[in-house]
Amino acid sequence: MHDEKSAVTPEDGSAAPRDARPAVRQDARPAGAGEEDRAAVLLEARDVTKHFRVRRTGRDVLGRTTRAVHAVDGVTLELRRGRVTALVGESGSGKSTVARLLAQLYPLTSGEIRLEGKPVKAARGRRFRAYCRRVQLIFQDPFASLNPVHTVRYHLTRALKIHGRAGATKQELNEALTALLERVQLTPATRYLDKFPHELSGGQRQRVAIARALGADPSVLLADEPVSMLDVSIRLGVLNLLHDLKDRLDLAILYITHDIASARYFADETHVMYAGRMVEGGDSETVTQSPAHPYTQLLIASAPDPDRITGEDGEEPADEEPTGEPPSLISPPDGCRFHPRCPLAMERCRTELPPRFDLETPGHWAACWLYDGTAGPAEPVKEAAAT
Ligand code: SF4
Repeated sequence: MHDEKSAVTPEDGSAAPRDARPAVRQDARPAGAGEEDRAAVLLEARDVTKHFRVRRTGRDVLGRTTRAVHAVDGVTLELRRGRVTALVGESGSGKSTVARLLAQLYPLTSGEIRLEGKPVKAARGRRFRAYCRRVQLIFQDPFASLNPVHTVRYHLTRALKIHGRAGATKQELNEALTALLERVQLTPATRYLDKFPHELSGGQRQRVAIARALGADPSVLLADEPVSMLDVSIRLGVLNLLHDLKDRLDLAILYITHDIASARYFADETHVMYAGRMVEGGDSETVTQSPAHPYTQLLIASAPDPDRITGEDGEEPADEEPTGEPPSLISPPDGCRFHPRCPLAMERCRTELPPRFDLETPGHWAACWLYDGTAGPAEPVKEAAAT
């Protein structure tokens, strides 16, 4: 089993020697992304940025009354047909904002979103409905996402009608409603159709929310923490359902979560965000078992995982939480945004933004100066280390 710390810190506690780190190209595309992979890309974000303007108290020296929250900066992400892509990070890392940008709920500050290779223009009205037919968002809270005064029948019928899939007759509508509920394994459908949301369990409500999204017959599902509000005992069932739908309907699914352990089991690819920036990505097995970025290593070390046993004596290591707090996104740190918390921060990390460095495993990359192959021995900057 991989020892998370050993990737950057050898046994004597010093920084890893330079030649122990894989270092290759600096292009932004994952290595191994050939023509076949490109063809499978349904939805992509290219160098996407979102800054929110917020009011400041008073004026600054330049007379400005607002300032920008740098929620998302320079995010590039590809969602492929028939694959689950996890976007992982702490609260406030910007991962839900990425989902909302992909769903066109917020306009971009800069960058581009492409659907099947074609740039997506900011859409409202009919164009927005057409986009929603292809790209559906599932919200975190099934209790809030279904209006409590309406039945399951109403919610699903409305979705089918909005997207022109309700059929011409009452019988066709009933068949479509039954098919939707069967797809999310709520059977027999007649048991659920006339229930109100408060008469359903949390897991059943989330299944209805998923059925409503499927009412549009989408190609892409953006699932924003779809199980975080559910009891632990029913989370696996909902994740398995999404996995099954991905296979049966050939969907591209974005799975947003703060739980990197669930990404390992559920997602084909995993990408990690920190303070509005992507810091690592690759196939889930590689990212979770051989994490390269110090932030990913700390996330994994702090996640409960029954498979993780390190140490020669086979003892479970003490859980390790990322130390310190994420930075303010109103005035994020220069250079690598993780440097105030990073125990391996070097001088250059304070001023220079690390690009993506492709690593040895195809498709695996990390935005960290440890992997540029030119840095001197990684002497930790003591005063920059997390406290
Ligand atoms: Fe740490 Fe520097 Fe890598 Fe950032 S770039 S994670 S501060 S070593």
